[in-house]
This record gives sequence, structure tokens and C-alpha cells, in this order.
Amino acid sequence: MAVPLNVETVRDAPKVLLHDHLDGGLRPATVLELAEAVGYDALPSPDASGLAAWFLATSHSGSLVRYLEGFGHTVAVMQTPDALVRVAAECAEDLAADGVVYAEVRFAPELHVSGGLELDAVVEAVLEGFRVGTARAAERGRRIRVGCLLTAMRHAARSREIAELAIRFRDTGVVGFDIAGAEAGFPPTRHLDAFEYLRQQNSHFTIHAGEAFGLPSIWEALQWCGADRLGHGVRIVDDITVAEDGTATLGLLAAYVRDKRIPLEMCPTSNVHTGAAKSLADHPIGLLADLRFRVTVNTDNRLMSDVSVSGEMTALAETFGYGWDRLQWFTVNAMKSAFIGFDERLALIDDVIKPGYAALMA
Ligand SMILES: [Zn+2]
Repeated sequence: MAVPLNVETVRDAPKVLLHDHLDGGLRPATVLELAEAVGYDALPSPDASGLAAWFLATSHSGSLVRYLEGFGHTVAVMQTPDALVRVAAECAEDLAADGVVYAEVRFAPELHVSGGLELDAVVEAVLEGFRVGTARAAERGRRIRVGCLLTAMRHAARSREIAELAIRFRDTGVVGFDIAGAEAGFPPTRHLDAFEYLRQQNSHFTIHAGEAFGLPSIWEALQWCGADRLGHGVRIVDDITVAEDGTATLGLLAAYVRDKRIPLEMCPTSNVHTGAAKSLADHPIGLLADLRFRVTVNTDNRLMSDVSVSGEMTALAETFGYGWDRLQWFTVNAMKSAFIGFDERLALIDDVIKPGYAALMA
């Protein structure tokens, strides 16, 4: 008899997370304590539950630009080594407690230098935090491996510098690179030199594309920049026509994405909150998974959208009728698409993920 699928049992299933922002996943109480410690007095609420509610309301506004406002507060309290270590450690602990066995967590070092830190010191503090959190989780019997992605802001002009930073830390915990921020008006081709440099360094990168903006953004990310994965990528459905009998016809770009097994880092609830999808039931993830695109399930911002990986998985199972086999498929998809080496990915799939789901499906 298979184990019944609900949020508790999904929490214990092994899961893989590829798209999660460090500055979007703080504990509300930590935001308050760090604000107090650094004398930041612009928080919208004086208590943890009020703050959590404010973040959720702001993120659930239907606009990506409004959604990004909440980050002003989290970033403001993440300007010292101690704060960065703490936030990264709690991130690793929280993900491990949610049953995540491998995570790639991203953040933009350039947003954490207003207190006078150098970029290298910012990255060192975050990597130290991941080590601390991973060790604490292990003490509680939860094994997690955390890789770090360095993000450059797409409206700024520091992407080449951040790409070089990612390469400097490639042997100590940084596994890739990303660009993020407002999509419309800031095409990825503005950062071509960063992507060319990373390709020359045999490095990996993902690009936020096809979230608030459509197919041209996805096309540029892949065919001009050479992205290994797509952050969100939901708008690839604009290149798919579904006939009344349910037959789907893929345009050239959608076919390319599926044929090349390009991973889609889908973040369903976040997309509903920013208005990229009307509801979970309307979210293109259902169609894209049925068409066997390389779909992965992610949180994007656990604080802003009040989500967890197990919560997203459970909601998808409820909405689309998925069983454990589909949740395993999402998880293996994500593990195959990770930026760590093939040996490590395979070991996690064979030794952790498959036995974990086999026990649930037995
Ligand atoms: Zn994102």
C-alpha cells in the first residue's frame, strides 16, 4: 500500500530545489531581530505575524514590480557578515526540515555592500552560513547539500564582475550564476559579456526569462546568451497551440526547449502572485508536465509567497491529481538539472531520491 499523499508525508519525501532566493526566504522573526540589531526602523510591522502577512499581501499583488518591493526590507537587514551567516544558516536548516536533500540557493552579492562589505566577504559569509546550517541539520538527522548561485541584477551593470566572482568561488560552494530583477526593458543580451566569460570558463548559468515577459526573452536567454536553464520559463506556453481535442502543437522555440531537455525552474505560487498565471489550476505547469518538458518545482521566495517545496508539491498534487510517481519525476528532473557534477547528481538520485520514493510507493 502506498503511503497517502499529504503535506506531512510530502515533507518527508526527498526533494530538490533549484530556484530559491536567499533574500526572499528569511524567517519573519529573523527580519525583526536583524532590523533591531542594525537600527533599521522602516519595517511595515512590529511583530512577526504582521510582517509575514505584509509580505504575503505585497507579493500577491499581481505585479512583478510591486512583488520586488518586499526585498527592500530583507536586503536592508542583510548588510553585515553576522546577518548573512545567520540568514544562510537558517535557510539551509529550514530547507532541510522541509525534506529538501539538494538545493541551489541564489542571491545578488551587489545588493549586500551598502554596509561597506567587499563582494568577496559577502560571498564568504553566505557560504559559511550554508556550512553552519547544513551541519546543524545533520545533527538533527536531516541531510542536505546546498549549492550557491550568484545573481547579477539585470538593471545594473555589474554582471561581468559578479560572473568573475562566481568563478573565484567555484571550488568553495558557488555552483553557478543567474540574472534577476525586472524583466521588461532589461533583456538578457545586455549582459552578454558575462555569459560569454562563463561559457569560456566551462561554468553554468540560468537566466530569469519568460516570467513577466514573453517568448523573445526566452529566445534571447537561450540563443544569444546560452543559458543552461530557464528561471520560470512559463511563457513558453505562448509557443504551444492546444486544439479542442487536446492535441498540442509546438512552435520552433517550444520544440527546441523540449528537445534539448532545457530545465524549466517553475515556481507556481510565485507566478500566481505576480500575475504570470491566474491560478494554480490555470498554471501552464500542468500542460508542460503532461508534454514532458523538463519541468522542476520551486519556491522562488518562501517568505514573500509563504511557500515551501513540500507545500508546492502538495498543492500541485491536489490541483492536477498527481501521485508519488509524478512527484518523483519532478524531483529527478531537478536533480538531473543541477549544476553540480554528474557523479554527485547520480549518487543523490540512486542513493537518496529513488529509495525515498520507492518506500512511499511500496
Ligand atoms: Zn526568481
